[in-house]
Amino acid sequence: MNRIEMLSQIDHTEVYDIVIIGGGATGLGSAVDAASRGYKTLLIEQADFGKGTSSRSTKLVHGGVRYLAQGNIKLVREALAERGRLLKNAPLMTSTQPFVVPVFSLWEKFYYSAGLMLYDVLSGKLSLGKTRLLSRKKTLELLPNINPKKVAGGILYYDGQFNDAELCVELAHTAIRYGATVLNYTKAVGFIKEKDIIVGVELEDQLGAAVGEGGGDVSDGGAGSESAAQLPRRTVRCKCVINATGVFTDAVLQMDDPDADTLVYPSQGIHLVVEAKYFKGINAMMIPKTDDGRVLFAVPWQGKVVVGTTDSHVDHIDLEPLPLAEEIHFVLEHFNRYTNAAITKADVLSVFVGLRPLVRSANAGSNISSLLSRDHTLVVSPSRMVTITGGKWTTYRKMAEDAVNNAVFTAKLDAPSASDKTKTGAKVSAKVSPRKCISYQLPIGDGGAGAALKKELIANDGSLADLLHPAYGYCKADVIVAARCNMALTVEDFLARRIRLLFLDARAAVEVAPLVAEIMAKELNYSAEQIEKQVSNFNHLANQYIIH
Ligand SMILES: Cc1cc2nc3c(=O)[nH]c(=O)nc-3n(C[C@H](O)[C@H](O)[C@H](O)COP(=O)(O)OP(=O)(O)OC[C@H]3O[C@@H](n4cnc5c(N)ncnc54)[C@H](O)[C@@H]3O)c2cc1C
Repeated sequence: MNRIEMLSQIDHTEVYDIVIIGGGATGLGSAVDAASRGYKTLLIEQADFGKGTSSRSTKLVHGGVRYLAQGNIKLVREALAERGRLLKNAPLMTSTQPFVVPVFSLWEKFYYSAGLMLYDVLSGKLSLGKTRLLSRKKTLELLPNINPKKVAGGILYYDGQFNDAELCVELAHTAIRYGATVLNYTKAVGFIKEKDIIVGVELEDQLGAAVGEGGGDVSDGGAGSESAAQLPRRTVRCKCVINATGVFTDAVLQMDDPDADTLVYPSQGIHLVVEAKYFKGINAMMIPKTDDGRVLFAVPWQGKVVVGTTDSHVDHIDLEPLPLAEEIHFVLEHFNRYTNAAITKADVLSVFVGLRPLVRSANAGSNISSLLSRDHTLVVSPSRMVTITGGKWTTYRKMAEDAVNNAVFTAKLDAPSASDKTKTGAKVSAKVSPRKCISYQLPIGDGGAGAALKKELIANDGSLADLLHPAYGYCKADVIVAARCNMALTVEDFLARRIRLLFLDARAAVEVAPLVAEIMAKELNYSAEQIEKQVSNFNHLANQYIIH
């Protein structure tokens, strides 16, 4: 996975079948689907893979228990099938996570156990474990830090867990394995049209600004930063475009047609990360309905505990959204209420924030984002652009399949081309069977290339096994592997998404940033000035993950 190689592929490709805009779960999934069907595919991401919402999830591969309460059986069944597929296709990147729902009355025990039994039944052969009723004693044993007051018992059920940013990179590897061109730090800034149909995309290289080559800011997510005019641009030709830009969907829709209706109703969710001592054990806790009707999770993840989330409508869309004071208060207050912890802001190791690309419905009011559909939405524009948004990480594969099916149909990608016709001009049948989606059982990942390189690096130079930080297991070789194999181009790419230190412990991430920058500089030929700029950019960013 090498950016220079990818740029050279662009220069040597006359026309792509499909250009996918957006390198989150949906876009990368679409790249895997399209490339594995044999279409010439290009994916571009304006920042780093997963920089948007796809690195900021609760890290659950789940059917969505709460959608059952809304009676959305079809959505839950589909998500459970996708949960099962993902756990099979990416076994090294996913795991089964036991959850306990504490109940506070007999009625709750009956209600939630019926729902969770149904949840298990709906997963069919892809069940991750049987839902069980728990006595009060067993509930307190499985959730050692729960506040025992009023607990009447519990229900044990199973869902999946993963590392979202890691899966983004592994999807990129998979797409590349099937011949896709996949580029980070490349933004779509315009379309080329013939007779109102998109036949090309104008790309702008954002890397200079990201690595510290003076001015520029990739965090605005929209067109028109001051330095935009100086950034290098190129165009690619294509037969169709998939718009998979999450909460930026409307900006791309309007780049195609300034009068296009808006689709997305962004809803913000925050997570607080705290030490495992505040929530011991291997089980996660799910409170299906807090007193104000929200869901609260406390989930063990990578040696810490992730607590969240919230659902607050926001008007401003940013790649680095900021937590609201009331969101932090809500999560702290409710975590303390349901456990015997008494954590304060000072105990929070990191706060990370994501924006859900919920889809507006015609009758949605102003403040009801928790009631908006979590299903995905697909729109085909007159220009033949296919826009896919909504849904969730768990259903990315199905979203990708739908997006590619529509792109193939709209742009007639499977129709015989002029070169398919015989020289005598004999008619070729217009009916060509579409290339089938094969992502149902497609193994995801780099096939262990990164792990092999790490081993080799350490065998040649033992000092590369030195830890970056005494409290965390990441070593110097990890930085080199990330730069060489996983297209990490900045200090932030490494600390936020190749390893998750920014999300797990923002202060520790700040401490190691200079060392990471030094190692990356050797790998990627950065100047002293660029290193300094990257470290200072990173410190500025990490400051947003620390609660002051
Ligand atoms: C708080 C929270 C918790 C969640 N928890 C879960 C969970 O536990 N499990 C689950 O299944 N789902 C979860 N979700 C939902 C899931 O994270 C999202 O549905 C999913 O990540 C959306 O992916 P996406 O690819 O559509 O969008 P994104 O990940 O946002 O990707 C869109 C990308 O497009 C890029 N882009 C935008 N404009 C351009 C342009 N002009 N040119 C190039 N690139 C561009 C952006 O930089 C961005 O990286 C959660 C969501 C939130 C907010």
